[in-house]
Amino acid sequence: MHSDHIVISGARENNLKDVSLRIPKEKIVVFTGVSGSGKSSIVFDTIAIESQRQLNETFTWFIRNRLPKHERPDADVIDDLSTAIVVDQRPIGGNSRSTVGTMTDIHSVLRVLFSRYGTPSAGGAGAYSFNDPHGMCPECDGLGRVVRLDLDKLLDTSKSLNEGAIDFPQVAPGTWQWGLYAKSGLFDPDKPLREYTEEEWELLLHGKGFKLASGNTYQGLADRFERLWINRDLSSLSDKNREAALRVTTERTCPLCDGARLNQDALAARIDGHSIADHCRMEISDLIAALGRIRGGGAEAVAATAVTRLRRLEEIGLGYLSLDRETSTVSGGEGQRLKVVRHLGSSLTGMTYIFDEPSVGMHPRDVGRLNALLRQLRDRGNTVLVVEHDPDVIRVADHIVDMGPGAGTAGGQVVFEGTLAQLERADTPTGIALRRGTGVKDAFREPTGWLTVTADRLHNLTNVTARFPAGVLSVVTGVAGSGKSTLVSRVLVGAHPGAIVVDQSAIAASRRSSPATYLGMMDQIRRLFADASGADAGLFSFNSKGACPECDGNGFTVTDLAYMDPVTTRCPACGGTRYRPEALAHTLHGRTIVDVLAMTAEEALAFFTEHGGGNGNGGAKIVSRLRALNEVGLGYLGLGQPLSTLSGGERQRVKLAVRLRETGAVYVLDEPTTGLHMADVDTLVALMDRLVDAGNTVIVIEHNLDVVKRADWIIDLGPGGGKHGGRVIFAGTPADLLADTGSRTAEHLRRDVA
Ligand code: ADP
Ligand code: ADP
Ligand code: ZN
Ligand code: ZN
Repeated sequence: MHSDHIVISGARENNLKDVSLRIPKEKIVVFTGVSGSGKSSIVFDTIAIESQRQLNETFTWFIRNRLPKHERPDADVIDDLSTAIVVDQRPIGGNSRSTVGTMTDIHSVLRVLFSRYGTPSAGGAGAYSFNDPHGMCPECDGLGRVVRLDLDKLLDTSKSLNEGAIDFPQVAPGTWQWGLYAKSGLFDPDKPLREYTEEEWELLLHGKGFKLASGNTYQGLADRFERLWINRDLSSLSDKNREAALRVTTERTCPLCDGARLNQDALAARIDGHSIADHCRMEISDLIAALGRIRGGGAEAVAATAVTRLRRLEEIGLGYLSLDRETSTVSGGEGQRLKVVRHLGSSLTGMTYIFDEPSVGMHPRDVGRLNALLRQLRDRGNTVLVVEHDPDVIRVADHIVDMGPGAGTAGGQVVFEGTLAQLERADTPTGIALRRGTGVKDAFREPTGWLTVTADRLHNLTNVTARFPAGVLSVVTGVAGSGKSTLVSRVLVGAHPGAIVVDQSAIAASRRSSPATYLGMMDQIRRLFADASGADAGLFSFNSKGACPECDGNGFTVTDLAYMDPVTTRCPACGGTRYRPEALAHTLHGRTIVDVLAMTAEEALAFFTEHGGGNGNGGAKIVSRLRALNEVGLGYLGLGQPLSTLSGGERQRVKLAVRLRETGAVYVLDEPTTGLHMADVDTLVALMDRLVDAGNTVIVIEHNLDVVKRADWIIDLGPGGGKHGGRVIFAGTPADLLADTGSRTAEHLRRDVA
């Protein structure tokens, strides 16, 4: 019945080549391999999806209808799974009512503490919740901020209503809402607003209480606007509407609660002189100390419960966060660690936990703590599967599965299984990289100038001046929370708006976008097909004439069955290719448009270099774009692969590929090694070197010591996180850093090169 292995055989998702595996349960199993080798295809697309699908089947159709639908992964056998919990780097998101305190459930422990032991008492638990009408501040409804309509931004008084004096898309001339004012008969629609009398002005903004000829009850523009757009949680609006609303408002801290979100009764209650809001504002490490000072029977016991959970946050290197920090502002790596802590708090056993590069954003100092948490999960009887590149995490594995040998079609096989000691002797890219130690480089480029920036006060930076050398490769280091992103992404980029920021944020693109469309080579590819065949270029687009009529170019169809799950099936007409048959009747050097889109960037580069690289049809552009994709290490991506399937690190490198042609620019990269195998890191550093040699300045936030060693200049922030950080504690070459005594980064670098 109960097996001690997860058994997979004949797995074929994405690039997997009939993979068969027995994964030991209740162990830490790390999946390694170059990017694109198939790690995610096994762990996420096969194991996690099948586990979720089997779990969903245990629910009634009523519940199942409300769950995401999963097709069965392509494999012959997937057996003895346990319930999978995926802990990934996808943003936690959440609205502005979600904070570190609420998502970890620690806020509710503090509420219990205050409702029982706070004096004077404000009442039972709801009284201390900013998400409960009994506790929330009446001025800001528990948001801590108030948004005010800014009439100077909304109205252009030099214009009349007919000329578009109201500068807001939903009230633009001709719209129904515009008609409520311009056609009300109350105003001369051709009179510029600045010529309005005081009465007309008052009527326009605040008039109310009478019916218009149209039958509508009139409400002044300002009042109506506040009701519809401002007096609500802006995060509940669509992106487009929120942007529009933010353009005509100013936001500031709520004057009544001063950002504490709670009403005055709740804020008056104290324990040891601190209100619940004071506790939530403290950095977690300070909060642990404050709660530890609480004495007396029951209160001490409740405080101890909170402390146990807070310690987990501190242990995983998040002691610099505060409970009132909104989850929408934490980074992907921080979010993943918050999720880990939430799961550690649960007493579930017999689960399969799946982590996606949990070391992202972590300084080498903190990786040891992460490993301790992974061991705790395992020791409670869980199976822990980890996709990881960091040798320090690989070392914690009980068992390693190395995928490869290459990426895409050159990968998809298990090339090694066993222990770390065995892997270090294995002849695979991972084994070779693990054995190879490198020192810091010995020649450093000379700066061509300096970019000096000053932060007066932002997050944990106070009166910080930093000098970034121009014309070289700089790496900004420091433990999580030390202020790297604040200094680089906010202060430096703020002072140099022309900087090219290449980050991991989502690419604003439609579900039909792919590397081919994003890099702007689709038009050229279509034209080459059109020239070769004499057919219309539109025939080679699945968004246009070429779309399969059955599925409209989606590649799949959705069938709604009454009382049962809707079923998503590959379109039978086009077989998922999205194209109508006519499009496939034409070829370019023997390949159809579908064949071309199925090529990896590497294959496509060879194909287009051979055929038509030099001609005037844009072939040269295709080749240069493909070369850029290969240069950033994404040669394994499919040209037609939906961008939505890319990881954060891959997205960052796709964006970099688009911007590669610049010179004289300042490039800012935030942990570009995310998702990269040790062997791929070399490719990336070589690319950054080429950018610098072409006359650019490259500034990288990075923990990866292989990048640190090859920098020309290091700026180390710290010494700790939060208020214990925020200072430049070292600036100089890696060689100088090796000799530095005050920096944690230096310590780890010394150990690494030893
Ligand atoms: P890894 O996790 O080792 O980086 P993946 O499992 O993500 O590798 O990818 C293996 C191969 O499958 C790569 O060639 C990748 O481009 C391809 N691939 C991954 N996801 C998809 C997808 N949803 N559709 C098409 N191809 C994919
Ligand atoms: P790093 O990039 O080194 O991890 P950050 O610049 O992200 O550090 O953070 C520095 C400090 O600023 C930390 O105490 C962090 O909690 C705080 N911080 C960062 N972003 C925000 C934000 N959006 N709102 C409030 N505090 C923030
Ligand atoms: Zn308030
Ligand atoms: Zn179709």
